[in-house]
Amino acid sequence: MKLIFATNNHHKVEEIRSLLGNKLELITLHEAGIYLDIPEPYPTLEENASGKSRFIFEMTGTNCFSEDTGLEVAALKGEPGVKSARYAGENRSFDDNIEKLLINLSDKPDRSARFRTVISLLIDGSEKQFEGICEGEIIEERRGDQGFGYDPVFIPAGSAKTFAEMDMTEKNQFSHRKKATEKLVAFLNTL
Ligand code: IMP
Repeated sequence: MKLIFATNNHHKVEEIRSLLGNKLELITLHEAGIYLDIPEPYPTLEENASGKSRFIFEMTGTNCFSEDTGLEVAALKGEPGVKSARYAGENRSFDDNIEKLLINLSDKPDRSARFRTVISLLIDGSEKQFEGICEGEIIEERRGDQGFGYDPVFIPAGSAKTFAEMDMTEKNQFSHRKKATEKLVAFLNTL
C-alpha cells in the first residue's frame, strides 16, 4: 500500500521509515510534490494529527497519515504539550525551547515527563488514531548530539542515556513514535 506521511520533519520520516521496513510504500510530502507547512491550530495532539491528515487527504485524494507529538511535563501541568514546537515562540530553535523548559523547571523537584505521539491514519476517508507514550524525566543539562527537539534533555525510564546520546535503533527501543507506529503497522496488517 502507498501512504503519504504528512510531515516536513526528516527526523520523523527516518524514524518511521526504519520501523516500517518494506510493509508499505511511504511517500513524503516533498516526494508527493507538496511544499507546504501544514497548519497545527488546534488545542490537542489528537485534533492536530487529524487536521493534518485530512488536509493532505483532501488535497491529494491519497491515503495518508500524520503524527503530532508533544512533551508533557508533570510539574508544568502537561506543558509544553501541543505547543512543544513553539514553546519559546514562533520560529524559535530547538535550543530556545529547551532553554525555556530548563528555566521553567529550575525550581521544580518533580522532573518527570513523557512524550506522547498521536498518529492519524486516513484510509479512503475513514480515520483511525494510534497513541504511543514514553515516560521519562528531564535532566538539568543537555547531553548528546543525535536526534532532535528535546532529545538532549530527555532520559526515558529504564535508561541512563538521553535520547540524544542514542542512535536511532536504541531510541526506537523506548520511543513514543515507535509505539504508535507499531499499532499503525498492526492495523495495516489486518486490512
Ligand atoms: P510536532 O508538532 O509533532 O512536529 O512536534 C512538536 C515538537 O515536539 C517538535 O518540534 C520537537 O521539539 C518535539 N518532539 C517531537 N518528537 C520528538 C522526539 O522524538 N524527541 C524530541 N523532541 C520531539
